[in-house]
Order: sequence, then structure tokens, then C-alpha cells
Amino acid sequence: MSTYKVETNTADETIALAERLVSLLQPGDVLTLEGDLGAGKTTFTKGIATGLGIKRTLSSPTFTIIKEYEGTIPLYHMDVYRLENSDEDIGFDEYFNGNGITVVEWAQFIEDYLPEERLDITIKYLDEQSRGIEFNPIGAHFEKVVKAVVG
Ligand code: ADP
Ligand code: MG
Repeated sequence: MSTYKVETNTADETIALAERLVSLLQPGDVLTLEGDLGAGKTTFTKGIATGLGIKRTLSSPTFTIIKEYEGTIPLYHMDVYRLENSDEDIGFDEYFNGNGITVVEWAQFIEDYLPEERLDITIKYLDEQSRGIEFNPIGAHFEKVVKAVVG
């Protein structure tokens, strides 16, 4: 398994990167986002949303856990931070096996429920405007997608 790293120097660059990525995604794809608070997980997801033609403002779903948006492909945006230390299954499979693209923030808290094939993304704070973004594709489809975007 390979790791692909890129650096962005503005929030808009992170959004543009996510937009390029989403153009290669398919219904049913699952992306996970790890990174500290303020790293840029929701910003990255905004790029996923605009890439899917979603015009509604994307806000952090921390208090709802899952938010659904209608786009060219539906977007399921999860923030499972509140599920830390709980092994509650809130019907993840229906989303992961559904027809949308699922983006999971704080995915480490629901590791047992994640599908095997997925794209793991880690965002690291470098300085105020810069972030290191690391892609860890699992499976041939995601490997191909990531190579096309940053390879
Ligand atoms: P998280 O969801 O990881 O808690 P957010 O996306 O909500 O983080 O917040 C990231 C903040 O950092 C935003 O205010 C965003 O504008 C800012 N930012 C600055 N530079 C970048 C960058 N290169 N990539 C992503 N976000 C950045
Ligand atoms: Mg967030």
C-alpha cells in the first residue's frame, strides 16, 4: 500500500484538491478524514460537496452525526466525534453500501464498522495557511484515483 503526500498553502487549495478528487469518485465510495480540530477536515469536505454540485452550505455535522446532501451523487457527511468510547452502530452499512459518497470525520472512532476498501486521508497542520495532506488508498480503485490526482 502506498502513501501519497501533498501540501496545500491555502484553504482554497485544499478545496480545489478535493474537487479534483471527487470527479473520479463513484457512488458507494467511502473516504475517511483524520486530523486535529481545525486541521481542515470540514474544509476538504466542502470541496467534495462543491465537486458534486452541492450548493447548500456545508456545516459541520458534529451534533447530528450524519448530514445528507443531494448532488450529482448524494453526499453523506459524518462526524462521529461524539461516538468516541461508544460502539454504537447507527446503521453505518446503509450509508457505506448506499449510492452516495460517504465522508467520515474522526473515522478512527468507528474503525470496526468501516468498509475494507476506502480512501483514508490524514490532514496535518503545518502552519496557519499550510496543511500536509496524506492519502492512503485501500484497494485498486482508490489507488488509481489517488494516483490520477496527486501521483
Ligand atoms: P476540522 O473540520 O478539521 O476541525 P475545519 O475545516 O473546520 O477543520 O477548519 C480548518 C480551518 O483552517 C478553516 O478555518 C480554514 O479556512 C483554515 N485553513 C487555513 N489554511 C488551510 C488549508 N491549507 N487547508 C485547509 N484549511 C485551511
Ligand atoms: Mg470538522
